[in-house]
Amino acid sequence: MKVLLVEDSPVVLKVLRYLVSQNDLFIPVLAASFEEAKTCLAEHDDDFFAAIVDLNLPDAENGEIVDLVLDRQIPCIVLTGNFDDELRLKLLNKGVVDYITKDSRYSFNHAMKVLERLEKNNNIKVLVAEDSSTSRLFIKILLQQYQFQVVEAENGQEALAILEQDSSIKMLITDYNMPLINGYDLVRMLRHNERFKDLVIIGLSAEGDSSLSAKFIKSGANDFLKKPFYHEEFHCRVNHNLEAQEMLQTIRDLANIDPLTKLFNRRYLFAEGESSYQKSIASGRILSVIMLDIDYFKKVNDTYGHIIGDALLEEFSACLKLVFPGEMISRFGGEEFCVLLPAENEESVISKINELFEKLKGMQFTECEISITCSGGVACEMQPTLSKAIEIADERLYSAKNTGRNKFVCE
Ligand code: GH3
Ligand code: MG
Ligand code: MG
Ligand code: MG
Repeated sequence: MKVLLVEDSPVVLKVLRYLVSQNDLFIPVLAASFEEAKTCLAEHDDDFFAAIVDLNLPDAENGEIVDLVLDRQIPCIVLTGNFDDELRLKLLNKGVVDYITKDSRYSFNHAMKVLERLEKNNNIKVLVAEDSSTSRLFIKILLQQYQFQVVEAENGQEALAILEQDSSIKMLITDYNMPLINGYDLVRMLRHNERFKDLVIIGLSAEGDSSLSAKFIKSGANDFLKKPFYHEEFHCRVNHNLEAQEMLQTIRDLANIDPLTKLFNRRYLFAEGESSYQKSIASGRILSVIMLDIDYFKKVNDTYGHIIGDALLEEFSACLKLVFPGEMISRFGGEEFCVLLPAENEESVISKINELFEKLKGMQFTECEISITCSGGVACEMQPTLSKAIEIADERLYSAKNTGRNKFVCE
C-alpha cells in the first residue's frame, strides 16, 4: 500500500520515509513540494492508501495540499509545525483524519500509529444503530474517514437482526432513543448473549440526560459519547475501545494458541474441547477425536536441524487446516496433533482421514522437500468425557505406531 509523504524539509522527509518503511505493508512515495505531490498523484493514478502532509510547502503555503489529497478521496494526516487552533478545527471539519503538531519526536510515532490504525480499520465492520438519518449519516462519515466498513440500522430490532446474522461486526455504536428496541435494552440483550461478549459497544446519549451514560455503562457498554460530540473525541473513544479489545484478544491468543503452528494449544483443547464434547453428547451428535503423530520426526531434526523441523511442523499444521477447515485442531505435544471432528457417522470420519493421508503422499515439506507420513488413532464412539476419548484415540495411535506406522487405527 502506497503512502504519499509530502514534506519540504529533507530531514523530516527522511525520518518519515524511514518510519513508514518499517511497516512491511507500506511503501513510502516522497514529494518535496506541492507540484511534486501533484506529479506523484498523477503517476500513481491516485492509488494511495493514505497521505501524510505538511501544510507549509514552498509552492503552496496555505495548506492547499490538503484539498489536493482530499479531492482524490485519499485519507489525509496533517503533520505540521503550525499550532493554530482555528486552522486545526477547520481542517478536521474538512475531513482530515488527524492534525498532528510536530512538537516532539513522539509526533512522528503518533502519525505512524494513526496510519497503522487506518490499515487495521479497513477490515473492521462497525454497525451504527440510530433512528435519525442525519445523525446516522454524520457518524457514518466520521467512521469512513477512519476507513471503517459501516453497516447501518434504523432501530434496535434491526440492529439485533444484523448482529445475529453477521458475526464479523466488531463494534456497535448505538443511540438510546430508537423505535422497537431502545439502545439501552439492545445493549442488555447483547451482553446476556455469550456470542457478543467481544463486541465493542459505544452508546450515544443526548445532551441533558446524564443518567443515560451511566445506564449505558451499567448495562454493559464499553463507553458512551454525549451528543453533540466533537470529531476528535469520537475518534479517540472509538480507537481506545478497539485497542483495548484487541489487547484482550492478544492476551487470549497468547493463552490459547501455540505460537509456532498457530493451532490451539493443549490447554485450550481441554478447556474448550470438553464443553464442545459435552454439547455433542447432549444433542446426540458424534464428535470424533483424531490423534495424529508424525512418523520418525526425530530423524527430520537430526538430518536437517531444528529450524527445518519447526518449518515442517508449521507446514504440516497448515495442511491440517486445509483438510479440516473450521474444526478445532490443536497441537497436543511436540509433533502430535488432535482434531475434533463432528461427523454423521464413522465412515465420514474415515474418509476425511484418508483424504489427509492421500494429501500427505503427494506433498513435500519445507525448502528441503521432505516427504513424511503420519500415524493416527481415532475414537468415533462417544465417551463420557473428552479426556476419555483422547485416551482411547491415543491408545489406538500407539497401536498404529506399533504395527508399522503410516496408518490409522479406529478400533
Ligand atoms: P515416531 O514415529 O515413533 O513418532 O518417532 P518420532 O521420531 O516422530 O517421535 P519421538 O517422540 O521419538 O520424537 C519426536 C521429536 O520431535 C523429538 C523432539 O525433539 C521433536 N520435537 C518436538 N517438538 C519440536 C519442535 O517444536 N520443533 C522441532 N524442530 N522438533 C520438535
Ligand atoms: Mg514546511
Ligand atoms: Mg512422531
Ligand atoms: Mg511423539
